[in-house]
Amino acid sequence: MENAVDRLLERYSSWHRLKRATAILLRVKALLRKKASVNLSDPITVCELQQAELAILKYIQTASFGSSQVKPSSLLKLKPFEDESNQLLRVGGRLTNAPIPFEAKHPVILPNNHHVTQLIISHYHLRLGHAGPERVLAEIRQCFWILKGRAVIKQTLKSCLQCRKLRAKPQIQQMADLPNSRVTPGEPPFTRVGVDYFGPFLVKKARSELKRYGCLFTCLTTRAIHLEVAHTLDTDSFINALQRFIARRGPATEIRSDNGTNFVGGLRELRKAISEWNQQRISDYLLQNNQNLRIGDLVLILLENTPRNHWPLGLITQVYPGADGLVRTVEVKTQAGVFIRPADKICLLEASLLS
Ligand SMILES: [Zn+2]
Repeated sequence: MENAVDRLLERYSSWHRLKRATAILLRVKALLRKKASVNLSDPITVCELQQAELAILKYIQTASFGSSQVKPSSLLKLKPFEDESNQLLRVGGRLTNAPIPFEAKHPVILPNNHHVTQLIISHYHLRLGHAGPERVLAEIRQCFWILKGRAVIKQTLKSCLQCRKLRAKPQIQQMADLPNSRVTPGEPPFTRVGVDYFGPFLVKKARSELKRYGCLFTCLTTRAIHLEVAHTLDTDSFINALQRFIARRGPATEIRSDNGTNFVGGLRELRKAISEWNQQRISDYLLQNNQNLRIGDLVLILLENTPRNHWPLGLITQVYPGADGLVRTVEVKTQAGVFIRPADKICLLEASLLS
């Protein structure tokens, strides 16, 4: 018989439906005993639902803390007593004189491992709009005291699909190693930079509105930033912005752009334009800037104390690279003869005419 009742309780996944079903069963029982005059098809009354609830609670209390069983210490701690009006086990506690309802002062004790307890928890959880464990616990304690309640509620709410949908966090993957350009110490800022475009912004010129773009240079080591305005999205505009950047911050040894895939703003227009940049021209420009002097380069020789107009033209006839491959001294032929000059006194006019 016990098994049959247990199986019946297990069948239901809603506290309310379980109470309704029990109410109908109790009505059948009364009819069979010929005690009641109600019809089976009459709607269930509130009173019947309350009786059904009482019957279920009594049943699970007897099943879990029946007189023959050893009482768990978590139950004894509550100083439980039996309610004389309905034989339910209630919490003793010290709130007898508190101005709150009797149910809240002496809540009905529920076992922590019973299916019905879980139904009650889910019922309150849904009624409170999928509230968190503490809120559900506080609400349930107005009527029931669940042994080890906090843990059981947490466990039960974990299986709520709706809550899992609402609170799911994306997976966090460990970040990859930083590239060496991000972690090389001891270099001046803006030695290695990343470049990004953002915008467009509308600016006023006379009476018309024009689009302008921001060109963002970030130092990969210090995260410092440098902003330039690019007039259009074409290669020339970028080279101009780059030129201004280098003039202000010094030459960069490494310039990274992710070719528009991750550009701030992510505008299709921007990405398209950037992918169409003439990469060859940009790298040519950069090469020229940091290039070693080569044989055949047309140069101007810097003479201190002489106006620029009078600096002589020359052609490099020999270079002397250092151990690191960088040319710091050259031999240059001018009208006046052949000289050995340091590279910082040489201005490149035209890269090697010979090659
Ligand atoms: Zn939920």
